[in-house]
Order: sequence, then C-alpha cells, then structure tokens
Amino acid sequence: MDRRLFLGFMATGTLSVVANNRFERVHKRDDSLWITDKQVHVFLSVAKKVELVKRTVGQGNFNIISFDTMLKIASRYSRVGKFTPQEVAFMEEIFYQDPNIHGFYGKRTVPSITTKINKKDVSKIRHTGHYLFRGHSKNSYKRVISDVGKSLMLTSGVRAVPKQMNLYFNKIKRTGGNISLASRSLAPPAYSYHSVGDFDVGKIGWGYKNFTVSFITTKEFWRLRQLSYISMRYTINNKEGVRFEPWHVKII
Ligand SMILES: [Zn+2]
Repeated sequence: MDRRLFLGFMATGTLSVVANNRFERVHKRDDSLWITDKQVHVFLSVAKKVELVKRTVGQGNFNIISFDTMLKIASRYSRVGKFTPQEVAFMEEIFYQDPNIHGFYGKRTVPSITTKINKKDVSKIRHTGHYLFRGHSKNSYKRVISDVGKSLMLTSGVRAVPKQMNLYFNKIKRTGGNISLASRSLAPPAYSYHSVGDFDVGKIGWGYKNFTVSFITTKEFWRLRQLSYISMRYTINNKEGVRFEPWHVKII
C-alpha cells in the first residue's frame, strides 16, 4: 500500500479495492513490509478502538492498563465497541511476529500479550502523567533529577502492551502503512524497554523537540551523559536497528 492511497483510505474511510498491479509495484521499491490491502481495514479499526480506549480511561491510566482490561473497556463502552475476533487476531499477530523481518533486532521484553503491570509495583510521578517502577527505576529517576536539575522531567515511563500498541499503530499510520520503517523508530509492542524499567526524559517547555536529535543541544543532555548510573539505550547506529534516541534512558 503506498502512502497516498493509505492516507486516502484514512481520509475518506473508503476501503475499496486497491489496484493490484500498483500495489505490487510499490512493494518492490525496497525491502520494507507494509500493511497489506487485506489488512488495512482491520488495522484502521483496531488503531481507532485502541485510541478510543485511551480517551475513555485517560492518558495516565492508559500507560499501564493490560490487554485484557483494554478489551473489557472496549466492550463496556458503546462509543468504543467490542473488538471483533479478527481485530484481536490482528493484534496477536502483530504482537507475536518476529520483528527481525522489519529490521528490528531488539530483545523481546514482554512474554505474553496478556502480561499485566501490577499497580502496586508502579508509582505515578507527579506533574508528568507517567509512571515508573518502584525501586531501582524510580530511585534512578530521582537521582537523575537531583543531579541534572529540575529543568528535566519524565516524558514517558512505564508502558504496558496497549500503550506500546497505540504508539506503534500511530507510527505506522504516520509512515503511510510502512511497518518496517515504523519498527525502526519505535519498538514493536512486545519489545519496548519501557515495559521493564527504561524511561524517557526531556527539557521542560521543549515539547515534541525532546523527541528529536535537537535534544543533544541542551545542557540537560550533556549533564545526563556525565552520570555513571545511567546510559543511552539507543546510540547512533545501535545494533537493535532503532534510530538514535538521546532522550531514552537505560538504567545500569
Ligand atoms: Zn523511550
């Protein structure tokens, strides 16, 4: 599926037949794997329902709800609507597929799609809307803030499966349906280190720029680099195949 057609589907909601010859031609352009014309309908409806569940439970709670809770909420609220068996199957396929085919070589961090995050194991970080795991992760964050200063803040913490799916599906949409490209800038749902203790930080007031290479121009970034108890998960040309992410903190 090419970007223009894909965006056309999204804009009009029309899910008519894609001209096969055109589709083939687009696929042969590089090694990328795309959402297929058979998948596009289910992909868009799943992505929409996940987004609606997020709006229903609120951004903060959505970070940590489990897959089963997401399904329950969808069926309870008519404005979301129950996930169909095909939609559940699609999410399972995405979750369990080997992302090596997309050029992503990171390690699996979440064993099962139904893996839960226990609420008593996490703690909400004030003024951020995000959570951190109690213990080593939260303690390291507090140490980072005291060493770097209060101009630094948590921009993303613990992410359970639905949250990572939401980010991943939105990324796929933005790439026009190119799953491979999306997987190199955001870990697939079973592969995020946010599910096991990593977190993102940014400079207060910097908004989306915190998630760009510009972050390395801040004094906060250079102070982070001097700390011995944390490091950068995704350095330039990392072997996981993920883009350079200077804002993503790995705890040592
Ligand atoms: Zn991150």
